[in-house]
Amino acid sequence: MPEAPNPKPAGDNALKPLKSTLNLPQTAFPMKAGLPVNEPLRLKVWEESDLYAQIRRARAGCPRYILHDGPPYANGAIHLGHALNKTLKDFVVKTKTMAGFDAPYVPGWDCHGLPIEIKVDEQLGRKKLEMDPVAVRRVCRQYAQKYLDLQRSQFLRMGIFGRWAEPYSTMDPVYEARIAETFFHFFERGFVFKGLKPVSWCIHDRTALAEAEVEYESHTSPSVYVRYKLTSNPAAIVPELGAPSSTESGAPSMTASSSWVGDAPPNPIFTIIWTTTPWTLPASLAVAFHPEMEYVALATADATYIVAASLAAEVIAACKLTDATEIARFPGTALDRTTFAHPFLDRSILGTNATYVTDDTGTGAVHTAPAHGVDDFATGKRYDLPEVQYVDDSGRQMHTKRFGGGVAQSYEGLTVFKSNPVIIKLLKEKGALLATANLEHSYPHCWRCHKPVITRATEQWFIAMDTPMPAPDGAASTLRQRAIDEIKTVTWDPAWGQERITNMVTTRPDWCISRQRIWGVPIAVFLCGKCATPLRDPAINQRIVELFMKESADAWYIHTPEELLPAGTACKECGHTVFRKEMDILDVWFESGASSHAVLDFDPDVQQAPNDPDPRADLYAEGGDQHRGWFMSSLLCSIGMHNRAPFKSVATYGWTLDEKGRALSKSLGNFIDPVAIMDQLGGDIVRLWVASVDFREDVVASLPLLKRLAEEIYRKLRNTFRFLLGALSETDPSTGLTHDFDPRPMAEGGDAVPFEQMQPIDQYILARTADLTRKITDAYAAFEFHRVYHLLNEFLNSELSAFYLDVLKDRLYTYPIKFKPGNAEQESLYLARRSAQTAIYKTTDALARLTAPILSFTADEVYQSLPHTHGSVHLTLFPTPEDLILPGQEQLIEGFYSVLQMRVTVQKSLEEARISKLIGKSLEAQVILDLGDAALPQMKPVHEAFHHFKASLEELYNVSSVRFREEPGPQIPAASVYQAEAPKCERCWRHVPDVGQEEKYPTVCHRCAEALDAIDFPPYATNV
Ligand SMILES: [Zn+2]
Ligand SMILES: [Zn+2]
Ligand SMILES: [Zn+2]
Repeated sequence: MPEAPNPKPAGDNALKPLKSTLNLPQTAFPMKAGLPVNEPLRLKVWEESDLYAQIRRARAGCPRYILHDGPPYANGAIHLGHALNKTLKDFVVKTKTMAGFDAPYVPGWDCHGLPIEIKVDEQLGRKKLEMDPVAVRRVCRQYAQKYLDLQRSQFLRMGIFGRWAEPYSTMDPVYEARIAETFFHFFERGFVFKGLKPVSWCIHDRTALAEAEVEYESHTSPSVYVRYKLTSNPAAIVPELGAPSSTESGAPSMTASSSWVGDAPPNPIFTIIWTTTPWTLPASLAVAFHPEMEYVALATADATYIVAASLAAEVIAACKLTDATEIARFPGTALDRTTFAHPFLDRSILGTNATYVTDDTGTGAVHTAPAHGVDDFATGKRYDLPEVQYVDDSGRQMHTKRFGGGVAQSYEGLTVFKSNPVIIKLLKEKGALLATANLEHSYPHCWRCHKPVITRATEQWFIAMDTPMPAPDGAASTLRQRAIDEIKTVTWDPAWGQERITNMVTTRPDWCISRQRIWGVPIAVFLCGKCATPLRDPAINQRIVELFMKESADAWYIHTPEELLPAGTACKECGHTVFRKEMDILDVWFESGASSHAVLDFDPDVQQAPNDPDPRADLYAEGGDQHRGWFMSSLLCSIGMHNRAPFKSVATYGWTLDEKGRALSKSLGNFIDPVAIMDQLGGDIVRLWVASVDFREDVVASLPLLKRLAEEIYRKLRNTFRFLLGALSETDPSTGLTHDFDPRPMAEGGDAVPFEQMQPIDQYILARTADLTRKITDAYAAFEFHRVYHLLNEFLNSELSAFYLDVLKDRLYTYPIKFKPGNAEQESLYLARRSAQTAIYKTTDALARLTAPILSFTADEVYQSLPHTHGSVHLTLFPTPEDLILPGQEQLIEGFYSVLQMRVTVQKSLEEARISKLIGKSLEAQVILDLGDAALPQMKPVHEAFHHFKASLEELYNVSSVRFREEPGPQIPAASVYQAEAPKCERCWRHVPDVGQEEKYPTVCHRCAEALDAIDFPPYATNV
């Protein structure tokens, strides 16, 4: 086979190298992304052109989609959980915007509350004692504002679009006023009461904690078995107990009042309680027994013990009652209204019945201190036990003289945990302690200081869950029932959220809304200075709301009741005219829950259209722990205000964990700072990570994973985009002028070839892009962002990079970039190249739009690198399949699939030929395809397809020639590879028979000769 000679200069006709006539890719879109440097520059452009406002104007009047932002807490820099939260929301807002909705985003911040106040306390130290509350609140406000500003700049850096210049914040005076207004709404309608109630209490922070502020951590408690001596008539429980323990003696029965008159005194009878909080024993007022459980009396040498039958064996073992024998059996109802002696105080203890008593641990006899347990408190109410509280705000045991029979007890003044050993010692001295051990168990801790919390009855403000309120149809209901009913009208994603929040609403206690702190919105109620009755006057409440709007909630701390109340205001109960202000503040969950009123009711940027019959927000989207947090408080506040849920749908995401399933933390060394990632790798890498995970599950993040995303996944996507863009410009070597592809139709002076005149491969890729568009927009609508991520990767890597762009190189690089008028062959080759560019342009444009919600920076860069685009990709809509392929034209490409399938077979045969050294490059091959017997009816469509696409096969398989063999044979489909016999074209490297036919260009094929002629390439001679 003759080697084609290299083109060389011939005489004076200086020959430009043929290579310079190849249309190799050219684009200003750099291979190296430089995201850490370039993203901030793009942000600046977005900011200067106020892109968010442009988007809002562009979508004005479109159907609205309201995502209401859950406010993050304004303390500290953002962490990866924040990044996940805001990016997911941004995905929603951007996809809805590009799907044609008017989708505003108004971010918010939660600014009041304990964590900030504690930080400020730490900063101020002793100085705080000399400051008035307003001054402390000022420092808290500055602290919150500092972190609001920091977090805002960090969210902006991530490319999150929104009304960042005017966010909502719970410390904004108007918002504070709306919180007060929401409270007054509950208050005036009788939902709010003040009462003694056991609440979770942090003795370190000296405050009540909401359920959401309590975390369970491991804690070691002393566990004690303590005996309480029966003081009522044992025979009244069961007759056998009235007899002496040695029943065979036939001794006379005994009554409680009579003393024993037989040979020996009867053994005393006790019940045994088990507790892990000995410090609550001074407050012990009762013992609870389950009415339906069976109890036994166990006789030992010197005492008889009453415990649950099912727990007897365990109690015998734990308390070493080795000689115990059962002498009686009776139901728990028999123990109701019995009496016992307190183990160390001079106090009678009441036997009670309660159904919450269980037989899984303990003794079946539950020590009951109404001040220190929710169940205990309920029992205390049912049995009318006195309401007492011995433990003060700091957790110290107080008043032990008053309640301990006139003498101060040895644990007086000790904090509860320090009093445990002292009380255990006391129990031992009094002979009441049967056993003690240490128990490591899951125990409630304060979310802030991580110290163990206690349950303590305190005077608090509550919203009663069972307050009557009518359903919208007027039927009788309650706040709790209304919440349960409204939950059913909401779409929960994932669906298990519905059951979770329903259970929480069903079982939750009344909402404790008061906190004993100062950084928040006060419960702005005036209390009668004489009888403490709250003043309930809507007109006065409205004045307070207006005052807060003007002066912020600081006003409550500045003005005296006399300044705030109209002259002559008198108590409705006692007529007294001096009032004091309630100084507790509202639970921060109430504040953020009030956003449905403070924001959605008043901010025109986050409201449904005025005529919309359903004014609820379309979506709340937060972490899965918010069912008991913000979703719950928002639901209750909205029902209180409007008797309906504030949202149509609620989406939740999982926790962010490392590859071993551990939470990310600085102490574990697996912490990931999203800001550092943006500085090192880019904001788009963080965004790509968010898209890559299924947010409904717990999501995994690690530094190696993020680096792999940047170095492998992102780089590949970028390089494919770069190749696409590079195919859309060409420089004419004869003029030196560069031409950018003009996407307008040829008929309108542009370069785009009409679909029906495009090459089959190009039609095929547009059909594939149309299919991708359909799938991606569907996935976006279902918030299946990880599906979008996989679809995009698959398409860019397999469909484009490994297939389409690979086979296209010959056409893009070697076909003529213009044609001489009247030269039909040049024109048709020229159109074939424009066909490829048309497909590339449309595909790149579609991909830039489809990628924009995720890779917000890169997609904008791609879009603006496309010739003839204007503005930002974020102002565009998603492509539709109809933009890419006209309806009814799908069948044009149907037969292409069988042709494409053969490509795999051909590539396999080519590979084998390369291994056996038959060929080097695949262009050195000619291929014979075995299509089988054309006469067989089932083979007819295949034959038709191959004949239809015959002209594209060489390009599709990247070989120099393809021929068919259509005869009966067993191997179908099969491809046979032979070494090409024809000479090699020096320009396109194909082996074709027409090389050297053109005298002007003797070393190239006919097709290349046309390409050279079209640009008036100087003729040359071979160096023969
Ligand atoms: Zn605490
Ligand atoms: Zn009064
Ligand atoms: Zn050629």
